[in-house]
Amino acid sequence: MFKNKKIFVLGMARSGYEVCRLLSKYNNTILVTDKKEQDQNHIMELNNLGINFINTDDPLELLDKSFDIVVKNPGIRYDHPLILKAKELGIKVVNEVEVAYHFLPEDVYIITVTGSNGKTTTTTLIYEFIKAMKKDVHLGGNIGYPLSSLVKEVKSGDVLVLEISAQQLHDMYDFKSNVSVLTNLTEVHLDFFGDYDNYIKHKLKIFNHHTNSDIAIINKTNKDSYDACKKIKSKKIYFSSLEECDACIKDNSIYYNQEKIIDLSDIRVKGNHNYENIMCAIIATKTLGISNDTIKEVLSKFTGVEHRIEFVKKVNGREFYNDSKATNVKSTITALSSFKSPVILLLGGLDRGHSFEDLRPYLSYVSHIVCYGETKERIKEFALSCNIDCTVVENLEEACRLAYNISNEGDTILLSPACASWDQFEGYEKRGKLFKEVVENLD
Ligand code: ADP
Repeated sequence: MFKNKKIFVLGMARSGYEVCRLLSKYNNTILVTDKKEQDQNHIMELNNLGINFINTDDPLELLDKSFDIVVKNPGIRYDHPLILKAKELGIKVVNEVEVAYHFLPEDVYIITVTGSNGKTTTTTLIYEFIKAMKKDVHLGGNIGYPLSSLVKEVKSGDVLVLEISAQQLHDMYDFKSNVSVLTNLTEVHLDFFGDYDNYIKHKLKIFNHHTNSDIAIINKTNKDSYDACKKIKSKKIYFSSLEECDACIKDNSIYYNQEKIIDLSDIRVKGNHNYENIMCAIIATKTLGISNDTIKEVLSKFTGVEHRIEFVKKVNGREFYNDSKATNVKSTITALSSFKSPVILLLGGLDRGHSFEDLRPYLSYVSHIVCYGETKERIKEFALSCNIDCTVVENLEEACRLAYNISNEGDTILLSPACASWDQFEGYEKRGKLFKEVVENLD
């Protein structure tokens, strides 16, 4: 299907680069464009493979009906003029995952994870579980390793664990998994999909081509997921942290199929949302026969994915958590719902004019707010209206040190800023790393 063809790759970045490298092995003629400048070494490498790269934000004229296929980067909207032109010319538009899927050996066991929240954590957990089972497993997709880059390493009989975003499901046709997790559905990415129904419709493509011998792992309590999945053909297995079903919480333990798997007290990550991610991972890996001992062993060490309510360190009886990925109020609510002991909360960052009001019902364990960055004065006003002590500082480093100085033994110090980081950092990763560095140097 992707051999001896003329292919237009729209958008380079990592996945475009990897798909070009993969496609170049199969006698394809390839043109790749991107509106941004790209890594010179990558361009040179592609040129040496006979691939032409053009840096342009107006690629329209470059596409004509001599092309067979367009590979669209998932970040580019489906109503991009070039995509509309491709459709007009009858040229098939696919994404990188769809392309790479066609080059996988037979007999690969594919587990995919999608959903509005919890994708990366669940995908990582599934991967860690399978690694601990000593099976040959590969991690990829939206998590940072494009499937195209893995194809050459994957052998028949291996397991592939893939995080798949809604945008990647957009141009998916033949791709099929053995097991798919839909963590939950909430109204996100509406700017991309236009409306919630369209977003849900695309999310359901994670179960494409499923029959009753394939497995769908579904959130029983998330009404939108439950309702949307009623008609899918997969074998459905449900999880919930709030009600009894296939995988659930009873007597402070996780149960699956009425069997106790693990005590919550033996799990290092916190919060119902994390228990849900764990349940998804348990169901997915039970299909491969994981033992409860292996699950326990992994969960006794798993401290979360970096920057997502990640346990950093205990310093003189104070526990530090890095939730730098919380760039909006909703994520900070998730973090606050995970703690049942006094919390000193570090808030602040880029001011998008958003309100902090939704945090109000979740502040019962918060003893002090330390705020910094562009939003600091607005946060102070909000904290005082909630009768919570608040200190304003200039930056995160000061905030972290101050929180430590005013804390008591047993306190949790939580960076969950409810704001994007761009006012003082290049991204949430840099912000989280700085926080961890400062914590490492406290004594
Ligand atoms: P994603 O990959 O979907 O963005 P992550 O696993 O990276 O999700 O988690 C990002 C944030 O989403 C976490 O810090 C937490 O606030 C929230 N989160 C994680 N898992 C869940 C879940 N199952 N339900 C609701 N929120 C979640």
